[in-house]
Amino acid sequence: MSILFDEIVFGPLHSRRYGHSLGINLLPLDNKVCNYNCIYCECGWTDLKKQKIRLTPFDQVKDAVEQRFAELNRCQTPVDHITFAGNGEPTMHPDFARVVDLVHTARSNYLPDAQTVVLSNGTLLSRPDVYEALTRVDKPTLKLDTVNEHYYRLINQPYHAKSIETYIKQLMQFGKHLFIQTMFLRGKVHAELIDNTQGKEVAAWLETLVQIQPQAVVIYSLDRETPLSGLGKISTSRLAEISGLVNAKGISCTYY
Ligand code: SF4
Repeated sequence: MSILFDEIVFGPLHSRRYGHSLGINLLPLDNKVCNYNCIYCECGWTDLKKQKIRLTPFDQVKDAVEQRFAELNRCQTPVDHITFAGNGEPTMHPDFARVVDLVHTARSNYLPDAQTVVLSNGTLLSRPDVYEALTRVDKPTLKLDTVNEHYYRLINQPYHAKSIETYIKQLMQFGKHLFIQTMFLRGKVHAELIDNTQGKEVAAWLETLVQIQPQAVVIYSLDRETPLSGLGKISTSRLAEISGLVNAKGISCTYY
């Protein structure tokens, strides 16, 4: 069963990673919009026929943010993180950069202790407005599930031809301010068994992390039902092992 958020500003929800996390959903309230079709996406499969629909206008986002932030301030509700997530890829919103600035202003006025997070697949790093906006976020957290082109096509199923190598180069340019998040899983995709926790896969991913030098890495495995059936969750002990390998390279890594 897929999960869709039916509000622009939702929560705060309790998150193991982000504590009291207030979500910002810039995508439609009844439909997922993304340029990936990850086999594990909690929002379900991407429906390309529904990608052209109009995204929430900036003024509507502005009203929702200002109203909800003021309310949370009045009620003194704790908020640790303000997290851009929701029903798809947040950077696909044409006013993403303006919304980041709007959220930072509202944060200063109403929730000064909260840090901002953007959970993104990073595919629009090549757009200067998106790139610049991500540099202003406290925790720009970009996806890197594999560094293997074949696995990339199987796990993330991007709707573009840009290679994983090109993407990795962009991550390297972004540098120190960046957070990386990686989903580990195993299962059968198009009759092929995949497992991104295998030694060779992890070694190549680790080598790439050393080249990227992110501020921190977050790794996790499946938590909910996935659109592709038969995927396997990775044990906590294996995630702990992988996390230890990253820490040993001098890069902070946590697992969930
Ligand atoms: S990038 Fe995120 S929203 Fe898009 S398909 Fe993958 S998990 Fe879902």
